[in-house]
Amino acid sequence: MRLAAIPSVDRILQDSRLASAIGRHGRELVVAELRAELAERRAALKGGAGAALDEEAIVAALLSRLELAAQPSLRPVFNLTGTVLHTNLGRALLPREAIEACARVQAGPANLEYDLEIGERGERDDHLEALLCRITGAEAAAVVNNNAAAVLLALNALAAGREVPVSRGELVEIGGSFRIPEIIEAAGCSLREVGTTNRTHLRDYEKSIGPKTAAILKVHTSNYAVVGFTAGVAEPELAQLAHAKALPFVTDLGSGSLVDLARWGLPAEPTPMQALAAGADLVTFSGDKLLGGPQAGLVVGKRGLVERLRKSPMKRALRLDKGRIAALEAVLRLYLDPERLAERLPALRQLTRTTAGITAAAERMRPVLQDWCGRLAKVTVAPCASQVGSGSLPVDRLPSAALRIASSQVRPAAIAKALRALPVPVIARIHEDAVWLDLRCLEDEEGFAANLCGRSLA
Ligand SMILES: *Cc1c(COP(=O)(O)O)cnc(C)c1O
Repeated sequence: MRLAAIPSVDRILQDSRLASAIGRHGRELVVAELRAELAERRAALKGGAGAALDEEAIVAALLSRLELAAQPSLRPVFNLTGTVLHTNLGRALLPREAIEACARVQAGPANLEYDLEIGERGERDDHLEALLCRITGAEAAAVVNNNAAAVLLALNALAAGREVPVSRGELVEIGGSFRIPEIIEAAGCSLREVGTTNRTHLRDYEKSIGPKTAAILKVHTSNYAVVGFTAGVAEPELAQLAHAKALPFVTDLGSGSLVDLARWGLPAEPTPMQALAAGADLVTFSGDKLLGGPQAGLVVGKRGLVERLRKSPMKRALRLDKGRIAALEAVLRLYLDPERLAERLPALRQLTRTTAGITAAAERMRPVLQDWCGRLAKVTVAPCASQVGSGSLPVDRLPSAALRIASSQVRPAAIAKALRALPVPVIARIHEDAVWLDLRCLEDEEGFAANLCGRSLA
């Protein structure tokens, strides 16, 4: 093959099919990708391998290269893992109200830190504090980047250079890199371990308190359960001890639901209201777990303590941007009407779906998925168990329904990989030699069908 037979860059750029590609991607990217494509073909020829040299083949290859290059790295997927608040898949989905509120302030200037009444500098927490106090009954509230940041800020502002006693049964690690002992150290405090893994008594806390103690921390053990011969100290007792020693009592609630989930037949998760009633001076919890909002860390409690957090330089480093403040405000407003919450808040809507409803969805989607599998695999509707995720209610499971793909010809890992390669990647779960698609979190059935339509596993 003669290298000279390869058409020139200029010639290919004249191709009529590239006009719209140039309009969409810009001339620079099209030229760069074309050069890369031609270089690959030249290299293949030099290496003795065959390569198509006609314009037709080169343009087709270029167009698919451009598609790939334009694909964003962060993009939507179908979460059919059965874990509703999936940390790796972005946790809670925002309600329409929050997305619109966020879009409104992102597109232009907003009174983020500006008091419209007096025409002077304001405080960004002001947009959320009154709402949070109204919902939780707290005196004051502050908001930061996530709950890990809230814990870090609270410890740093209240206890830097001093000791914080924590029960050995609560030295938790949350997925990724949040470990209580490390957060305490990063906050500039020293951890004072109290009691044992399975049993901690009030006298253990009493013994641990000395002149260096700055606060008592209680951590909600959100992603595991210690069962058997166990003992912990009830929060009111711990609060009483802290207050007798003039120490703040801080509770890291983790998920923390703003409503009693029992109302919808879901297992109970402690609320910030309960923690405050039990005597906590500060309670921290996440915005994107059971609360169902954007990533955020919320702190509610005593005014004097919240003010100390707000004055810390760390608060500035951990603050929220206007988009998330707007989204969080919109989500919190939904809580003012709890009766409609389960239909308006996606996290709660998905958690409260009935098994019958999910099974019916699975029946509707089964033929679509069977078409995609063709003769390579068999799709059945099977009962399964979803979980809340993000460490909430770790031992509780919610009965659900799944599409189960079983095959004697294609390995489950290969099927799962093919599902992830769809235009909108479908994230499933492999269990007992089959691929399971839990339909609890599938709300866009039309989109799911369109994603599979005209494609196949083979
Ligand atoms: C999830 C969790 C955190 C971390 O919260 P993020 O919002 O993910 O930063 C901290 N503590 C507990 C107990 C948790 O469950």
